[in-house]
Amino acid sequence: MISAKRALAAALAALLAASLLSGCAGGKQSAQSSGSSIQIVEETSGQGQGLPEAQQEAAVASAFITQDDIPVYEGRTYVPVNGGVPGFTEDDLTTEPFEIYGELDSLGRCTAAYANICEELMPTQERGSIRDVKPSGWHSVRYDDVIPNGYLFSRSHLIAFQLAGENANPKNLITGTYYMNAVAMLPFEEVVGDYVRETGNHVLYRVTPVFEGDDLLARGIQMEAMSVEDKGRDICFNIFVFNIQPGISLDYATGESFAGGATAARQPQVTYYLNHSSRVFHMPSCEGAAKMKQANRLEFTGGRADAVFLGYDPCPYCHP
Ligand SMILES: [Zn+2]
Repeated sequence: MISAKRALAAALAALLAASLLSGCAGGKQSAQSSGSSIQIVEETSGQGQGLPEAQQEAAVASAFITQDDIPVYEGRTYVPVNGGVPGFTEDDLTTEPFEIYGELDSLGRCTAAYANICEELMPTQERGSIRDVKPSGWHSVRYDDVIPNGYLFSRSHLIAFQLAGENANPKNLITGTYYMNAVAMLPFEEVVGDYVRETGNHVLYRVTPVFEGDDLLARGIQMEAMSVEDKGRDICFNIFVFNIQPGISLDYATGESFAGGATAARQPQVTYYLNHSSRVFHMPSCEGAAKMKQANRLEFTGGRADAVFLGYDPCPYCHP
């Protein structure tokens, strides 16, 4: 799988060198095929929608991360990949529900999870125990001074339980830091979940853990999402989220850890109301938020930059 992805990435890099990257929605898009996966390339010029230029520059230049271009952690929780544009094609945009969990590799590591998130896939039952699953690199260790619930690692769902209802599936659980699981991934999972619950629409959603060499602990995960019915107008992102924990150093080869080391400037987590019709986000106390139609409202908790990254503009009245 890795080698296929690398070949694809090389092909895409060549392709993209001659093409201007697309934003997620708007503009004429055409699918360029390369083997089984395809890259959406925009034929008209234009900037990545909703992405500040600095974020586009930070992007990995192809839709898929390979071992050779794993982003380096520099204090941001995540970085955009491919200008924030996911590697789905127009042909992939289906309203047929599906969920695919890749086989574990020879080292027992998860490969990828891909689903068409929709109401049919969402859980109808309470979450059960996942404690019997031991993902690659797993260690049950506590740092009570550093981490809110004490535990450095969680069994981190690739596709969140709230989105597809998969629980103790070992093909969908990796060893993830508290920070990656509860801080970095969650706002993106929630915005997808809220969108599907509010609209009844579908969202193509793929999460791929990225390992270097024979490491047992993932360096991070790539998250891609694209809403189907509106061709990515409301939900469209492609990001790499770092599997790091501020205040803790990690040995990715084994999953061993010790106190000290990398620290992250954590963004304050704030609750906003996103209006997915007007593409504006508000403080919950804003009059504009109160007037918003329920069906257009997504409640989102995360960093301000995350809301901007998702393509929303701050309301000029409440200045979120
Ligand atoms: Zn407002």
